[in-house]
Amino acid sequence: MTFQDFNFNEQLFEGVESMGFTTPTPIQAMAIPTIMEGRDLIACAQTGTGKTGAYLLPVLNAISQGNKHHTYALVLAPTRELAQQIDQQIEGLAYFTGISSIAVFGGGDGIVYEQQRRGIQNNVNIIVATPGRLIAHLTSGVLKLNHLTHLVLDEADRMLDMGFSDDIMRIISYLPKERQTLLFSATMPGRIRSLAKAILKEPEQINIAISQPAVGIDQQVYRVHDQQKTPLVQHILKDAVFTSIIIFASRKEIVKALYKELKAIKIKAMAFHSDLEQKEREEILLQFKNKLLPVIIGTDALSRGIDVEGIDLVINYDVPGDPEDYIHRIGRTARAATTGTAITFVNHRDERKLKNIEKLIEKPIKLMTLPDELAAIQPLKPEQPQSGGSGDKKRKPNRRWGKKKPRQQNTGNQG
Ligand code: AMP
Repeated sequence: MTFQDFNFNEQLFEGVESMGFTTPTPIQAMAIPTIMEGRDLIACAQTGTGKTGAYLLPVLNAISQGNKHHTYALVLAPTRELAQQIDQQIEGLAYFTGISSIAVFGGGDGIVYEQQRRGIQNNVNIIVATPGRLIAHLTSGVLKLNHLTHLVLDEADRMLDMGFSDDIMRIISYLPKERQTLLFSATMPGRIRSLAKAILKEPEQINIAISQPAVGIDQQVYRVHDQQKTPLVQHILKDAVFTSIIIFASRKEIVKALYKELKAIKIKAMAFHSDLEQKEREEILLQFKNKLLPVIIGTDALSRGIDVEGIDLVINYDVPGDPEDYIHRIGRTARAATTGTAITFVNHRDERKLKNIEKLIEKPIKLMTLPDELAAIQPLKPEQPQSGGSGDKKRKPNRRWGKKKPRQQNTGNQG
């Protein structure tokens, strides 16, 4: 299948070509025809599958046929980073169509609010918004959505996790009942199904290999104690095999501490967390995107909000508590059918979390052997939780953590 098969409007097709999309991804191949038929859709697809294009392209195609005088589509997203990235993707795909869009999100100063207000008043064709700020514009009376034809909920599970359920229902109360609604979610818990039932009409359902990491990711695990973690980062980065790297940690305190440690050993990295001003965060992301910054350190919030091509390595400085966060984290690499490496550091407290991940991905992750000089590093106080630790204090260390082990069998089959 090619993009020509969809018979998009010529200007939109030009945008697709200029973005370098040649073949539709599986979610695009499945979702685009359904959406073009006008059906509501509930799609289970993770980031990295091309899901944004899957809903944007048919929506842009529909809008490109009309007079472009009003706001026709609303995309709701959980975070401002995601909202901005969706908006950027619209800009790229819609470049030749004359369709306008704006990202509307909270935070920022009065100038940002004013810019959003002006965009809205100028009847921008597509609004990509986080729920809270959108409600502010709706209740102020500036934003009228009576001409809306398409509503998209992107990362719906994340929006519910973040407590946006009431806001979403409130926003929907402002929309025309006759509309096409598309719901995209990485997971399909019962709450998402209930939400879908409430807001979609006889939806078509699509599942794209839920919760499975992209095949192009070489997943590896190192068993370590906490004193080995930073030296191991240094060891992995020393040969400059990897050029664009994200390091994930579970809490922003760990992100900040790791940033200091990496700075001390002259690794060019920046920490990305919620204590930074929005401008600072944008600047860091921009540098990272433009490959001026090789390493970015962040929490799981970053795993949902970053869409950067060419990330070749993800390091999990600790194991995420939710196995699906693991999928999100490592999904930052090997985007759209490329390859990448995901390395996870597992200390004894995180062992159970690793087991849960392996259960979810239905295979063991390749266990790597620590180099001798790192295996020799002694733990400070092996029995006590240390920085980054969350948790399982009752568990006795029943393995030789951090000691060099005989190579265990590699059943991972991830090449
Ligand atoms: P998403 O899953 O929507 O976050 O998209 C992941 C990445 O894949 C983004 O950088 C898109 O620009 C890119 N992408 C989406 N569709 C295609 C395609 N058909 N061909 C190549 N890259 C794509």
